[in-house]
Amino acid sequence: MPDETVADETARRPIALITGGSRGIGAATARALAPDWDVVVTYRVAAGEAAAVVDGCRALGAAAWALPCDVADPDQVEPLFARVDELGTLGAVVNNAGVVPPPGRVADYDAARLDRLLAVNVRGAFLVAGAAVRRMATSAGGAGGVIVNLSSRAAVHGSPGEYVDYAASKAAVDALTTGLGGEVARDGIRVVGVRPGLIETDIHAPGRLERMGPALPMGRPGTAEEVAGAIAWLVSPAASYVTATSVDVGGGR
Ligand code: NAP
Repeated sequence: MPDETVADETARRPIALITGGSRGIGAATARALAPDWDVVVTYRVAAGEAAAVVDGCRALGAAAWALPCDVADPDQVEPLFARVDELGTLGAVVNNAGVVPPPGRVADYDAARLDRLLAVNVRGAFLVAGAAVRRMATSAGGAGGVIVNLSSRAAVHGSPGEYVDYAASKAAVDALTTGLGGEVARDGIRVVGVRPGLIETDIHAPGRLERMGPALPMGRPGTAEEVAGAIAWLVSPAASYVTATSVDVGGGR
């Protein structure tokens, strides 16, 4: 694969693979896991930001790598996992890469908008989860592991007037968590979801955080680190009986 940022040759500990780890919740998750895991972050275009996340993980004691992968491109997902196989043993996958479309009403959506959104948020999440299962399932000789799917509180409240299609894509992610969790529960794999509320990252249109934050029950948006803390717990042995379910990190919304 091109553009790999590598100083470490192989992992010393189980690897946590985080898609979309160049910024936002993915980058915070990489830093939260670095004390206990070796880390692979992926990015689509932001190679420089991903390299900085890798440097931060190494400073926390992890072996770490940044690898390019557009999760919407089926031809890039399996090569990503093949490269991770060369680095070490996969123990956790955080299905984090995701996009939001511009605000709009359902009556105004076109097919191109829907295809791109679903290709990243749904098809990408399924392809990544499937590749993880093929490696981690004990029935296939794997050592088990954890898959964390990033959903959204939007899956519950539907985002009327903003992006119902995004909310629907995250409801599909919730179904992936529930269904796959049951499918692989006896294969040593836990599948869990996280539904963040409004979180301070670059994903939002300008002004949205400032407009909506004060009206939330806690009077503020959440931070990427507050979501990463839940993910760190979910991948840890402390959550060993938690599967096929999702945790809300929504500040009461
Ligand atoms: P963000 O700051 O916009 O970061 C998105 C990350 O995903 C970036 O690393 C980006 O990489 C990557 N990415 C985007 N499209 C990709 C693709 N096709 N293939 C691979 N990587 C891709 O977003 P965030 O706020 O941290 O959100 C992370 C996840 O949490 C998403 O699934 C989002 O839907 C969910 N979420 C966020 C919020 C919130 O309020 N922030 C709330 C609920 C749920 P590049 O920089 O290289 O493009």
